[in-house]
Amino acid sequence: MTNDVNRQWLLMKRPEGNIRKDDFRLTESPIPAPAQGQVLVRNLWLSFDPTQSGWMRRDTYIPIIPLGEVMRAASVGQVIESKHPDYKVGELVQGAFGWQDYIATDGAGFLPMRRLPADMPPNLALSLFGITGPTAYFGVLDVGQVKPGETFVVSGAAGATGSVAGQIAKLKGCRVIGTAGGKAKCEWLKEELGFDAVIDYQSENVGSRLSEFCPDGIDVFFDNVGGIVLNEVLARLKLRARIVLCGAISRYNDSTPAPGPANYGNLIVTRSRMEGFIILDYAARFPEAIGALAGWLKAGSLKQREDVAVGLENAPDTLVRLFTGQNFGKQLLKIAEPL
Ligand code: NDP
Repeated sequence: MTNDVNRQWLLMKRPEGNIRKDDFRLTESPIPAPAQGQVLVRNLWLSFDPTQSGWMRRDTYIPIIPLGEVMRAASVGQVIESKHPDYKVGELVQGAFGWQDYIATDGAGFLPMRRLPADMPPNLALSLFGITGPTAYFGVLDVGQVKPGETFVVSGAAGATGSVAGQIAKLKGCRVIGTAGGKAKCEWLKEELGFDAVIDYQSENVGSRLSEFCPDGIDVFFDNVGGIVLNEVLARLKLRARIVLCGAISRYNDSTPAPGPANYGNLIVTRSRMEGFIILDYAARFPEAIGALAGWLKAGSLKQREDVAVGLENAPDTLVRLFTGQNFGKQLLKIAEPL
């Protein structure tokens, strides 16, 4: 059954500090009709990504979401009407369809619409084979340039990106240390994913544990979090270390920018490199990453975890989970089954 209205979550306010449900408003409007060159997509799954906080607040690598518009999100949907020469009714597609049941679109945008491979489940298309898997892959291999025998530290290690980054570094022969919040996540990293050591940043002293686990220093740091962990790592770099600036979620909801890390001067002493990257720049090389990730997954040498919420009405609460550490694995939301 399809709904006969289009439920839409609109962005109504710029968040002040943490994201709140009342930054959004749920409305209903008629299902749009596709124009020539467009398809009508029924949304099935939504991806939740920390970067959405930035999109709500300011221009980043893409423009800010205008107030009163549908909340932007990566998603998978099904074509239910087509006036586009390249798409047929029934096909599953992914793109940036936003927090709504339906969208009429020509597929253009910062995540151009593409068809899912025939055998790819929609959840995997948004998790391991969506943004976070390739981010881990290119961050570790291209930006981090890991080598066998190196000491690799990853923050946000139990998250969608961090857990894959740590496993890729292990597959490449590194000693891997992760930081994560809480006992359950730390146990999973050690027992299930085979991390060499973990630090619960909420209950342990990050600096002294890093000194204990990395007595000779750190070669590569894959940073998802920023803040205190980044500063403690900076104090413990080996010569020619690489810091992969993937994200800084501990800062995304700050109203004013926090001061920079005090230990940055050690980059000079150790001749190290600290480099940010945005995964969209790697779009042309996604098949390479997806091929490698699929191979490891099939061989059982890579594990991935998803955290699935249900119901479009729960979209704002689901986004908040990322910033309170409630998500355990890639945060998704299922809206509907394909027809
Ligand atoms: P995750 O699955 O890692 O979820 C977010 C996690 O961040 C939470 O589970 C929580 O884990 C942790 N966290 C939240 N608040 C804090 C805090 N104040 N201090 C420390 N940890 C916190 O999300 P993703 O894998 O999607 O994203 C991870 C990072 O990668 C983000 O910074 C994101 O912006 C970045 N990213 C960057 C991309 C790029 O192109 N550069 C592309 C994709 C993601 P815990 O319980 O352990 O605290």
